[in-house]
Amino acid sequence: MLGYEPHEIGTSLKEWEERVHPDDIQKCFADIASHLNNETSHYENIHRMRHKDGHYVWILDRGIKLVDSEGNTYRMIGTHKDISKERYMNEQLIQLTKEDTLTKLYNRRAFFSIMSHEMAEAKRYKTDLCFMMLDIDLFKKVNDTWGHHFGDDILLNVADVIRQVIRESDYTFRLGGEEFGILLLQTDIYGGKVLGERLRKAIGDSCIQSPTNECISVTVSIGLAVYKQGMTIDMFSDKADEALYDAKRNGRNCLIVANY
Ligand code: GH3
Ligand code: MG
Ligand code: MG
Repeated sequence: MLGYEPHEIGTSLKEWEERVHPDDIQKCFADIASHLNNETSHYENIHRMRHKDGHYVWILDRGIKLVDSEGNTYRMIGTHKDISKERYMNEQLIQLTKEDTLTKLYNRRAFFSIMSHEMAEAKRYKTDLCFMMLDIDLFKKVNDTWGHHFGDDILLNVADVIRQVIRESDYTFRLGGEEFGILLLQTDIYGGKVLGERLRKAIGDSCIQSPTNECISVTVSIGLAVYKQGMTIDMFSDKADEALYDAKRNGRNCLIVANY
């Protein structure tokens, strides 16, 4: 499992310990101790072990202690199973449940867990947090004129432009058909406004070749809200949504900051 020939690998506990990922070793020993202290019926632990070539392998360990006639533990027997493939598949599955199938952005399901986590962090560390709601203007007309398939290409392009403009640490969600949410970490209202305007311009400036070889571009309206202590996810996103509604009423292709 670890890529060694039998003669290349020893059997000492120290050697084993040195191969376990440093973040996993404490829990390993804690689980062994629980079993030795009769708190658990058997030892079981999942941890990473370093392969000969340097990468880590996920291992499921299961063991049980052997006790002599005087009640002293003298040995542990059990199995080590390489579960890297299962772990990988599981991670892929979890990723898929969070992903929008068309744009590969985060979907609405991911929205609630990420928002609650980041809002808690902003509250705890007293950092700024901005949320933007972005909706494509008159998108129905694009679909009606060029067809749904072309509409999807436009959606993909908008998603790509967002990816290019925002920072790696920010989050983009596809919240509805042609509606996106963007969460900007450690960003105050001024920073949010600068980024929102840059994004609005970048989307308006980009275009996609239509079936009749015309260069078609769309504009977006944006509502921007800043997080205030005590807000729920609904309150925070509703603020951005109200500002988006104002942006639409204001004639579209603009950014409006939420009132408090
Ligand atoms: P507004 O500026 O007020 O936002 O006008 P709009 O036409 O964008 O708004 P409306 O809500 O009336 O229409 C949204 C349209 O988005 C309706 C639907 O045809 C289209 N749409 C929603 N989801 C998808 C999708 O996944 N693919 C495509 N191609 N179109 C979609
Ligand atoms: Mg729209
Ligand atoms: Mg809409």
